[in-house]
Amino acid sequence: MGLETPSIPRAIFKVMNNTILGVSHLKTYFFTRRGVVKAVDGIDFELKRGECLCLVGESGCGKTVTALSILGLIDSPPGRIIDGEVRYNNLDLVKCSPTQLRRIRGKEIAIIFQDAQSALNPVFTIGDQIVEQIRLHLGMKYTEARDKAMTLLKEMGIPSVERAMSYYPHQLSGGMKQRAMIAMSLSCDPQVLIADEPTTAVDVTIKAQILDIFHELKAKRQMSLIFITHDLGVVAEIGDRAVVIYGGKVVEMAPVSKIIGNPKHPYTAGLIDCLPDISKTTDRLASIPGTTPNPIELPQGCPFHPRCHKAMEICSQQQPPEVRISEGHEVSCHLYQ
Ligand code: SF4
Repeated sequence: MGLETPSIPRAIFKVMNNTILGVSHLKTYFFTRRGVVKAVDGIDFELKRGECLCLVGESGCGKTVTALSILGLIDSPPGRIIDGEVRYNNLDLVKCSPTQLRRIRGKEIAIIFQDAQSALNPVFTIGDQIVEQIRLHLGMKYTEARDKAMTLLKEMGIPSVERAMSYYPHQLSGGMKQRAMIAMSLSCDPQVLIADEPTTAVDVTIKAQILDIFHELKAKRQMSLIFITHDLGVVAEIGDRAVVIYGGKVVEMAPVSKIIGNPKHPYTAGLIDCLPDISKTTDRLASIPGTTPNPIELPQGCPFHPRCHKAMEICSQQQPPEVRISEGHEVSCHLYQ
């Protein structure tokens, strides 16, 4: 099937590709009364400097838990990182102390949470929250920090910045809250920005405006971005590479042009088939049959086999190995062995 050489070792891959953040064999489990939830079950990927890497998959596949694991924000108990590494600047973040992580979080690696309303503190103004973050991490004087906060809000396209600084989160629209969150996450000029579904809870106009902000971040700041989304349309618009996750595992990883134009894994192809096509008239939008697996009882073998129209006997017995299809394109599926 046109396969190239087998996968090169990950360590060599990292050095060759100017990696700023490397996730290796990450496993994050939640120990509940009903059983062990294997939310992230052996995920590997690298983020290169200045690229936008999209983590893609349906709800519950492990995207957000991966992001929280990188930042050491897993609630324990019940959650725990039981294996793996998160390499950043010669540090393994999994082994860092809470104090070390507090210094890195927000300052060097920042996150924009999915729900801006709950992520912002309702009893402090937007201005106070951004200024506090700047003073805490950069040690600036109040007036200097306030000027920086206003510049950031202006960059995010927030009108009447001086007035907006005195607004509480509930006084802002959904789009404005999301922009304020982006401004706050950029306030300490982080090396890596993780954006967790930043376009999910907003309408299409605001979504387009937020994507424009991310385009600018890439162009002007050469920001290294991890962009979490379930929307392959957004991936096509913003991403350089994509990591497709299913059942807590990476099933396909490739440059976005290959993922969209030539998907190899049946799950990726299914996600692309679900994208609405405005050139066709149809009564119903396509969907992948079945539902995401229960992470407490993941199916044996390939976790996608109960929903896969190409499943073979081996698929329910053995986990598929990772196969290199072409330069930078890897897939875990028995079809390509
Ligand atoms: Fe489908 Fe088998 Fe490939 Fe899994 S390994 S995606 S079940 S063909």
